[in-house]
Formats: sequence, C-alpha cells, structure tokens
Amino acid sequence: MNHYDFIIAGAGLSGLSLALHMINSPLRDRSILIVDPDLKERNDRTWSYWSDRPTPFDGIACRTWDRLHLAGLNGEMRVNLRRYRYRTIRGSDFYEHARRELAKHPTVTWLRGKVETIEDNGDAARVIINHEAVTGRWVFDSRPRHTGFDQRYHQLKLHFKGWEIETARSAFDPSAATFLDFRTPQNGATRFFYVLPFDERHALVEYTLFSNMPLLPREYEQALHTYLRDVLKIDDYHITRQEGSVIPITDQPYARRFGERSMSIGMAGGRIKPSTGFAFMRVQADSSAIVQSLIEHDQPFDVSEDSERYRLYDALLLDIMEREPERIQSIFAALFKRNSIEQVLSFLDEQASFMQNVRMIATLPPAPFLQALARMGKSRERVVETA
Ligand SMILES: Cc1cc2nc3c(=O)[nH]c(=O)nc-3n(C[C@H](O)[C@H](O)[C@H](O)COP(=O)(O)OP(=O)(O)OC[C@H]3O[C@@H](n4cnc5c(N)ncnc54)[C@H](O)[C@@H]3O)c2cc1C
Repeated sequence: MNHYDFIIAGAGLSGLSLALHMINSPLRDRSILIVDPDLKERNDRTWSYWSDRPTPFDGIACRTWDRLHLAGLNGEMRVNLRRYRYRTIRGSDFYEHARRELAKHPTVTWLRGKVETIEDNGDAARVIINHEAVTGRWVFDSRPRHTGFDQRYHQLKLHFKGWEIETARSAFDPSAATFLDFRTPQNGATRFFYVLPFDERHALVEYTLFSNMPLLPREYEQALHTYLRDVLKIDDYHITRQEGSVIPITDQPYARRFGERSMSIGMAGGRIKPSTGFAFMRVQADSSAIVQSLIEHDQPFDVSEDSERYRLYDALLLDIMEREPERIQSIFAALFKRNSIEQVLSFLDEQASFMQNVRMIATLPPAPFLQALARMGKSRERVVETA
C-alpha cells in the first residue's frame, strides 16, 4: 500500500493552492498525492479577487483593473481602487500554472480518480481511491460535502451563469470591471450581474443570484440575454465560452477537523464568504495557515477560527437575502456611497476593526438589520423550545 505525507482530495482551487503553498515552504520535500477524477484541463470558471499587495498569482491574471463600476444602486458609479487592484484568473491558467510548478517536485504524485472514503487509522488515514487503499499522514478534503442541515442557520444557493462573449463592435470599457450591477428584476431573490471586460469587444458577463429556487437553463439564458440587450445595449454578439454552477452558501460553521488525521478545505471547509461568495483570497490565507501549523506544530489544525463578529454580519445579510431580498440593493448602495472603497474592501476582507465596523454600520439603513436580528432571535428560540 502506498503511503504519503499528505493526500489532497480534489485538484480545484483549494487543493492546488494548498499543494503550491506546501512546495514553497520547508515542507517541499514531503510526499504529496493529489487526487481528482477531472483532469482540470477545461476553463471551467474564472476567479476574481482584490488585493492591496502583490500575490503569487498576479502573474497569471488575465486582466487587472484599478477601477470598479457599480450600477443599479440608484444610479451608477465608478470608483478608483486606490491601493487595491482587482484581478481575474482563468481557471485553466490557474490549473496549468499549478501543474507546471508542481511538476518541478518529484515528491508530488497526481492520480486521476475518485476519493471514495477516508478513514482514520491511528498514525495515518486510510483513503480509498478507485476501490484501492492508500494511506496518508494527513488528508485534506475538498470534495463537496452535504453537512447536516441545522435550522439555526441559513442555507442558500449561489447560482453562477456566465457567458464569455465577443461583440461585433466596440461595446465595453476595459478600464473598469463591473463589480455589481443590480439592473435586473429581483423577483424574490438577490440578483445581480458582474462584467469582466477583457478589451472593448470581449468580456465575461456573469449572472449571479442567491436563491433556493431552482432555475431552468433557459431562465439563466433569458436573464443574460435581456441584460445584454436592454442594459448594455448589445445585440450583435456571439458566445465563445460558458460557465456555471450552483454552490451552497451557509453561515453554519463547517467542521474543519473530521477525524484525527483529516481536515476539510475550500468550500467544504467553509472558506467561501457566505455574504459575497468570494473565496480566492480566503483559500490562500487558509493554505498559508495550514502550512504554518504543520511546520510549527506538526499538525494542520492550528488555523484561526472565523471571527464571531463577521459571522454575525454574514448571518444578518443572509437573513435579509432570504426574507427581504429586495432590500439588499439599498444596503449595498449605502455601503458603497457612504464609505470609501478601501473601507468597503477591508470590511469584506474581515480586516476592519470593531470601531471601523461600528462607523460603517452607522452608514447603513438600520431597519433591515434590526428586523433580521429579531427574526434570528425568534427562530433560535423556537429551535431551543422544540429541542
Ligand atoms: C462559476 C464560479 C465562479 C466563481 N467565481 C469566483 C470568483 O470570481 N472569486 C472567488 O473568490 N470565488 C469564486 N467562486 C467561488 C469559489 O472560489 C470556487 O467555488 C472555488 O472553486 C472553490 O474551491 P474548492 O477547492 O472548494 O472547490 P473546487 O475548485 O470546485 O475543487 C473541488 C475539486 O474536487 C474534485 N472532486 C469532486 N469529487 C471528488 C472525489 N470524490 N475525489 C477527488 N476529487 C473530487 C472536483 O473535481 C474539483 O476539482 C466561484 C465559483 C463558481 C462555481
């Protein structure tokens, strides 16, 4: 039976980010097995992220912006990002970069296969892949999980449907990425578009919504088509690539340690920020913390817990999205109009202090938050009563 220091289930964002952090650390000589049934050769998604400092991935970004465009918030605005930059990486470029970097290390093995089960077994975990067993000192699992539903928390689905298009004529302003555009009927859900203009004739236009309602493929297509025609005034275009997925969003804490030797990472480890759906930079911070914990404590679990304060803000926003989604637009309008972009981004990064939070919250309409707080209190009381 083969034995590895680290087994990584899933060669997506979190699995590959962790492997890259490992080979760029004192752990570089340890043996790593990366398992995924997918060859990761398709451009299956596009990651955007912001940062106020250089990151190891900036070199593979296909586009960087220093301005963002926001619309539908009782008007439109363009904001200069000041010390921040907004970047986009194509999934295929990220996978290719990871393959190239990891190939320089003979201690890294790739296996095309499905992780079926992970069992703790004393000093090692036993992992069944394609009906065969291997062992690992530590196992990192990014397979999508279906955690038990706990009624005290919110559960929503985040839908993505994106078209990369080429237009017949110049149609986009490539100097600014559209971060949020609410100019689409909300119809009982929080719905918006984002647009990543690669140049004047090419862009990724993505329809995004937080909703538990299942949508038919033609409903996404209709929304995209209408937005392009009525809002962006683009009629003459063709679709060069499509992406899409529906992922679970919750404020329910995810168990990171699910055995003596196994840890969940990525979406399965709760690394997607519930109120925004962004994960790229959170996954990088988590990978770095796991590597640091392994180096310092010879175990991966010494990563900091999510802040209770920010979990409460996320829960409040999810409650509003679930119960009064039409109010989200005015909250975001106030957030972006009454605060500097640096304040907003550091808040979304969970870096702002308590006093900075207080000042920012004072700029937002209080009623939706107070009502959400009251609803959450009542629903928790009900859960306690019925327990
Ligand atoms: C369309 C889309 C756009 C997004 N855009 C952004 C964005 O712009 N910015 C941002 O920050 N976040 C974005 N996200 C959210 C988040 O960053 C991604 O979902 C991210 O890919 C999550 O990383 P992950 O490692 O948890 O999952 P994934 O990247 O999905 O990786 C999981 C891997 O596990 C593999 N797997 C599944 N089952 C098994 C098994 N049994 N055994 C072994 N492997 C298995 C899968 O094949 C997959 O490769 C987006 C998500 C989607 C879906």
